Amino acid sequence: MSIICPSCGNEIREDHFKRKYLYKTLNKEYKLYHCDKCDLEFWTPLEFVKEIYENEEEWYCEGFHQGVIELTDDHLMFLSSYEGKADGLKLLDIGCGNGSFIYKAKELGFDVYGIDVDSKSIQAASEKFGLKNVYNMSLDEFVEYAKKEGLKFDVITFFQVLEHQTDPKGFIQKVKELLNPGGKVVGSVPNRDRLFVEFSRSGRTYDFPPHHFMWFSKKALENIFLINSFKVKVSKMKISFKRFIKFIFDLLYDRTKLGIFKLSVSERFFSNSIIQNVLILVFSPIALISFGIHTSGLFEPYGLYFEASSE
Ligand SMILES: [Zn+2]
Repeated sequence: MSIICPSCGNEIREDHFKRKYLYKTLNKEYKLYHCDKCDLEFWTPLEFVKEIYENEEEWYCEGFHQGVIELTDDHLMFLSSYEGKADGLKLLDIGCGNGSFIYKAKELGFDVYGIDVDSKSIQAASEKFGLKNVYNMSLDEFVEYAKKEGLKFDVITFFQVLEHQTDPKGFIQKVKELLNPGGKVVGSVPNRDRLFVEFSRSGRTYDFPPHHFMWFSKKALENIFLINSFKVKVSKMKISFKRFIKFIFDLLYDRTKLGIFKLSVSERFFSNSIIQNVLILVFSPIALISFGIHTSGLFEPYGLYFEASSE
């Protein structure tokens, strides 16, 4: 038996897996394969587990459900690139969470829509941010809905979403159906060639299945768009110093579960307790050094930002 690459369709021998991983919560074993043809790394079995997106235990979901604005570096890159150019453009954000990003995109002039499989996040998007066009739907369900309503989009965004897909090629083809002629697709994925990649993965589940099924390199990311007849430009994800401190604290919180390290909600940043501010000062030199290394351009970035157009 062989395994089929979910990006390019290449056949890979079943016993040629690179690595195994046990997801303890479900006692489920996954295998990692590398495709020589398109450079994608992917985990099998490719089966979506919906429950993990609504689990309150997942610390990163908390802010989402509370309706706190949390913008990440990729969101900021997008928003700055469309300043003064968004008027009247129809935008769909796939995996919109609580709607923080589309709320900001709306301020730029976009006519915004959002979908997410997490019902609590969608509830927060409509109740806390007053967003109207937000739907608790999968992409499949939304494609059907959009057909009925005659909806098409000028820009479709999906930040840190493609790596979660079990059928990334099908996902991109469905996105394409929702695009207006000349429309654009913008988003980001984690970079599997990033600096200290194994360190960032160790002891944590987020970069493994059933969260992340796809591990992209720059080449693999370019290929999946080329295969689906897109023109694509992949660039480095820019990172801010503030984000770096947050990254260090997230890591510490994740390892220790101590509340003083809980900085996952950026709105509260630098405004919590005195102890926290002291800790931030203590960890600043570490963050500064890591920040310098990352922005030096000598190493692979932690995230890949893509812009693709179907023309
Ligand atoms: Zn492939």
